[in-house]
Amino acid sequence: MIMPLIKGLQITISHMFKKPVTLQYPTERPDVKPGFRGLHALNVSHDKAKCVACYLCPTVCPAKCITVEAGEDANHDKYAAKYEIDMLRCIFCGYCVEACPVDAIRMTEQFELANYSRADFTYTKDRLLEKK
Ligand code: SF4
Ligand code: SF4
Repeated sequence: MIMPLIKGLQITISHMFKKPVTLQYPTERPDVKPGFRGLHALNVSHDKAKCVACYLCPTVCPAKCITVEAGEDANHDKYAAKYEIDMLRCIFCGYCVEACPVDAIRMTEQFELANYSRADFTYTKDRLLEKK
């Protein structure tokens, strides 16, 4: 009768001296590991988005959450006149990054994506270009 109680007490006391596995979020920040797939960002080259509107990323996206519309600039080069990701549908698989032939899109370490309205989960080209 007394032995189970002593064993239970032993376990409790042993845990009192262990480092806690939980974090006091948001005061304590988690250590984001390399390769983490967070919010997307569009890469820039020569002050322009690198995206050439090839439609590969919306084609491979399993969640069908990327919308691209191609435009043509004065040099007849294609660019993404519209680029949007619906973050409510994204499953953060990273296929869009893998598929891009010109390294125009990456995934950042940003994981705090909570918001108040559905519209705020639509990441437009301008919003994706702002991300570090
Ligand atoms: S991470 Fe996956 S689901 Fe999200 S936009 Fe890219 S391809 Fe689509
Ligand atoms: S981000 Fe890359 S894969 Fe997607 S449309 Fe632009 S160039 Fe193509």
